[in-house]
Amino acid sequence: MSRGFIYLDNAATSWPKPPSVAAAMTDFLATKAGNPGRGGHYLANAAAETIEQARTRLASLVHADTPQRMILTHGCTDSINIAIQGIVRGGLCRGRSDKPHVVASAVEHNAVLRTIHAYSCEGLIDFDIARCGSDGLIDPDEFLSLCNSRTVLACLSHASNVLGTIEPVEQVGSQLREHAPGALFLVDAAQTAGHVPIDVQAWSIDLLALAGHKGLLGPTGTGGLYVGPRAFPDEPTAPRLHCERRGGTGKIAPGLFMPEDLPDALEAGTMNAVGFAGLAAGIDAIPTLDHEKEKRHVARLVEGLGQIPGVVRYGLMTAENRTPSIAFNIADLPARELAARLDEEFRICIRGGVHCAPVLHETIGTGQRGAARVSPSAFNEDAEIDQFLEAIAAIAG
Ligand code: PMP
Repeated sequence: MSRGFIYLDNAATSWPKPPSVAAAMTDFLATKAGNPGRGGHYLANAAAETIEQARTRLASLVHADTPQRMILTHGCTDSINIAIQGIVRGGLCRGRSDKPHVVASAVEHNAVLRTIHAYSCEGLIDFDIARCGSDGLIDPDEFLSLCNSRTVLACLSHASNVLGTIEPVEQVGSQLREHAPGALFLVDAAQTAGHVPIDVQAWSIDLLALAGHKGLLGPTGTGGLYVGPRAFPDEPTAPRLHCERRGGTGKIAPGLFMPEDLPDALEAGTMNAVGFAGLAAGIDAIPTLDHEKEKRHVARLVEGLGQIPGVVRYGLMTAENRTPSIAFNIADLPARELAARLDEEFRICIRGGVHCAPVLHETIGTGQRGAARVSPSAFNEDAEIDQFLEAIAAIAG
């Protein structure tokens, strides 16, 4: 079906959503839209049930041992802020005689980088950045060698939002504690959830941040944070992730104190319930997508871009070990201008510029002009990929 434009910006947000997502949101607003957990009446209970369905789906998607350990958030940035703030400002760091130390990779999104940088400017932590190669891959040994007895947090993006390269999360998770016994492992899965399997238990992940609106096919304003037992032990007197956000939780609340149990201890205020109705439907739809078709588009784009004179590709040169994001430039053309020309002249939507990953851009030499990023999905037809490549050839020529 022709829509009058071609959408190839799924790494920013997935589109179109499966029709069941809008249907679930419409049904929620029409028949379930009470305030979840506030009041025991039918509509409030229906909303609470919807929220719990989303929580259960997110938890099982990443193999959490219990849905209670999946905190529902406004998005991946929110999840990452809750995680890092909760470590830096809480009992996991307080009262130490040495300065808490953080390790992050060069691949990280600004959601991680700006947050740790801000705490370092406040003098609360110091941090090291583990480099990555021009293919976007970190060296797990180098990453681990930066972790030490002062390290409270190690942050590794599961995949680069620019290059799509999938990082060796499992290897880092399995060896982290040998190097840094007290460190928690935070993984940013914004680009991978819904595309590749994730197992927080098998990979020793303590904190996993999720975006609802990308590969999970839900609406914007939804996300999740898995909080493992090392980050939030069941024992209330043990050092735990600290939560600066306080307020009503809807459940039995002990007077002026926040509840001590998950998920309520880390969730305050009314949820984006209609959003989570859509997210649950989005997660349900993931298995119905033609993932092989998406992979075929990635392979065709990597190869096709490589055949156009003047095009420079970045990152991995194959369709393996990557999410559907391909970064490139045309000669000296600024990436933003390229994206604008594709939009205006060809009605093709991609993103061009510096994609909130400044260290990665420095690494691949695109710190100033950025890069164009094309990101297909299973909803794209082969003909759309051909039209995109023809448009690039026309601009490059
Ligand atoms: N991390 C990565 C790797 C991302 O790609 C993004 C979104 N571009 C985020 C974090 C932040 O996600 P959101 O904007 O949905 O909060």
